[in-house]
Amino acid sequence: MNIKIAHLYPDMLNLYGDRGNIIALTQRMKQRGIDVSTDAITMGKTFNADDYDILFIGGGQDFEQDVLLDDLKKGKDAEINKAIQSSKVMLAICGGFQMLGKYYKTYDGKMLEYMGALDFYTEGKPERMIGNYAFKTKEGIEIVGFENHSGRTYLGTGVEPLGKMIKGYGNNGEDGTEGVRYKNTFGTYSHGPILPKNPQFADFLISKALENKYGKTELAPLDDILEEKARKQVFKLYIK
Ligand code: GLN
Repeated sequence: MNIKIAHLYPDMLNLYGDRGNIIALTQRMKQRGIDVSTDAITMGKTFNADDYDILFIGGGQDFEQDVLLDDLKKGKDAEINKAIQSSKVMLAICGGFQMLGKYYKTYDGKMLEYMGALDFYTEGKPERMIGNYAFKTKEGIEIVGFENHSGRTYLGTGVEPLGKMIKGYGNNGEDGTEGVRYKNTFGTYSHGPILPKNPQFADFLISKALENKYGKTELAPLDDILEEKARKQVFKLYIK
C-alpha cells in the first residue's frame, strides 16, 4: 500500500511544530508497512490534488495568510476544493483551517477573501484566545491541543464542528464548538502538534485515506504507551 501526502505551504504555515503532523502520519504508516511520501507544495508550485491521498495545511500568522492569498487563488483553491468534494482526507490547522472558509477579517480590519470551500467565516478580535485545551469528536476521541488565535470562527449549516469543547475557547469562545468537518476534511485550531499528541486521531485519518484507496483496512495496533502517558499528563496538568 502506498499513500501520498501533499504538504501545502510548509515554509509559510508551520506554527508550533505543525510539521510534526506529517512526521506522525508518516511514522505510523511506515510502522505498518505502508509506503508514504510527502511533497512540499510551496508558493509558485503547480498542485494537482488527484496525485495525493492526504492534504495537510498548517497554521500561520495573519501576515503569512495574507502573503499567500494570491498564490492560493491561482489554481490551488480549485484543486483543494476538488479534493474536499471528492472525499480526500484533509487536515487543516488554525490559519490553514481559516483559509478553507469564506473569509477572514483580521482584528485590524483587513479583509482576506478565502476560497469558501466550506460554509464558515472568521473574524478577528484584539484579544487572542490562547491556552491548552481539549475537545471531543462525535466518535468519542478526546483531543488535547494548544490554541492561539485572534480569529473567531462561525460555522454555517453546511458543515459540522469537529468536536465539542471540554476546556478552552475553540472556534469562538461562545458556542462550545471546535473546528470543522465535512466529508473527510477536518479543520481545527489545535496546534501542539495535534497528531503526535492524539494518536487515535492520527489513525482515524490514516484509516480514512486507506479506505478511500484500498477499501476498509484494519490498522495493526502500535505501541502507544509513551503517547498515552504524555496525554494523561497533559489532561492532569491543564484540562481536568
Ligand atoms: N492568524 C490566525 C489568527 O490569529 C491564525 C493563527 C494561527 O494559525 N495560530 O486567528
